[in-house]
Amino acid sequence: MLLIKNGTIVTSTGTFRGNVYVENGRIHSVGETPDCPGSIETVDAAGKLILPGAIDGHTHIDMPLGKIHSSDSYLTGTRAALFGGTTTIVDYANQNKGESLLKTLDDWKKRAENEAVCDYGFHMTISDPEERFLDEIPALLDAGVSSLKCFFAYRGRLMISDDTFIRLMELSRKHGFLVNLHAENGDMVEDATRRLLSEGKTGPQFHPLAHPREAEVEAVGRAVRLAEKTGGNLNLVHITCEESVKLIAEGKKRGVSLFAETCPQYLVLTDAKYEIPGFEAAKWVLSPPLRKRHDQNALWEGLYDGTLDTVGTDHCPFFFNKQKTLGKEGFDQIPNGAPGIEDRLELLYHFGVGTGKISLSQWVDLCCTAPAKRYGLFPEKGDLVPGADADIVVFNPEKQHTISAGNRHMNVDYNAFEGISVTGRVEQVFLRGTPIIRNGNCSAEPGSGNYLLRQYKPETDK
Ligand SMILES: [Zn+2]
Repeated sequence: MLLIKNGTIVTSTGTFRGNVYVENGRIHSVGETPDCPGSIETVDAAGKLILPGAIDGHTHIDMPLGKIHSSDSYLTGTRAALFGGTTTIVDYANQNKGESLLKTLDDWKKRAENEAVCDYGFHMTISDPEERFLDEIPALLDAGVSSLKCFFAYRGRLMISDDTFIRLMELSRKHGFLVNLHAENGDMVEDATRRLLSEGKTGPQFHPLAHPREAEVEAVGRAVRLAEKTGGNLNLVHITCEESVKLIAEGKKRGVSLFAETCPQYLVLTDAKYEIPGFEAAKWVLSPPLRKRHDQNALWEGLYDGTLDTVGTDHCPFFFNKQKTLGKEGFDQIPNGAPGIEDRLELLYHFGVGTGKISLSQWVDLCCTAPAKRYGLFPEKGDLVPGADADIVVFNPEKQHTISAGNRHMNVDYNAFEGISVTGRVEQVFLRGTPIIRNGNCSAEPGSGNYLLRQYKPETDK
């Protein structure tokens, strides 16, 4: 039994002073303290915020990419997640061509099960949409995968045709699941890449020119219209630019079943990073790339007015030395992605709540409650209500610190937000009632994270 008392409780619907009482790993009551018989562990949260454990719906841990893997293992990646206040991740399992979806899920579960220290589920990335694999979708839903992912980008590797996308949209309506989409026009990206390389423009500075905003805007517009026509369930991940936000807002206004995510890197950083000379800009080679200041403003407004629904990290770390350097001869060979699983809550608090761009409740909704709803984890996860899993973060809203690779726990040799000073810090984290992060230490045993059976529940969106 655990009592977290005297804090400011923050949920997606309100903020109030009170206590959280935990019994058998679940939240028993919130607000008033009940009579507590027997021994009870008490945590004094005076001056602190108490919020639900955060949910990161977009991670790529230990992800195979050609001959390498993203650099976090399920142990190091999920431990870093906990340090950052994230108690559940939904990671991407990637189908290999010619491979069964169910076998893919099995393989990825095995890779995570002895290592993960936070709770986890998987989205399934479709790279081979043969009919015999699409036939597995109902069984996949039964196995707890309530969302698939597909790509309009990465031609020859992952890119699917509109024909396949329409089919997936129709299946999503029929069976009830979410389709996550990487929305960039793969042909535009390939064309721009080839042109740049042929002109000898091989440095990481040219990566953003190979992924022009038009490629995202075209893909977003097309996807929204196809979702509208088919009645499928669409979730646009890592949205980066102003025109995309506008298209999403218009689609939502027309009643399209549509959700959208953005990421801290697009809210906090700009394409000025690509002006850093030499190879260092490779640290921010991620797709879509970082954009302009006016895009940031549009994304924050989209978060505030509900056009954008969630903030995930797209955590996909590669060592700058040894891995990013694979693209020294050509930016198209640089492994795409950046670390961030540990940084999200604090960045969103500092740059969002701290500047008045979003409210405390919106902060919790974007990082905890809305992802739980979207990804089929609500109400067990993502909220502080009786009966929910006691995944709880105690957050110090006054504590100032500077983000640096040296004080983070991700297995990577740089931090995308290096040197940024923020106010607000994750201090204690509880997973299913057990204290896991305390005094800067993580006490979780490898494999103590649970695989979560996710279930698509459109009614939670109402
Ligand atoms: Zn991603």
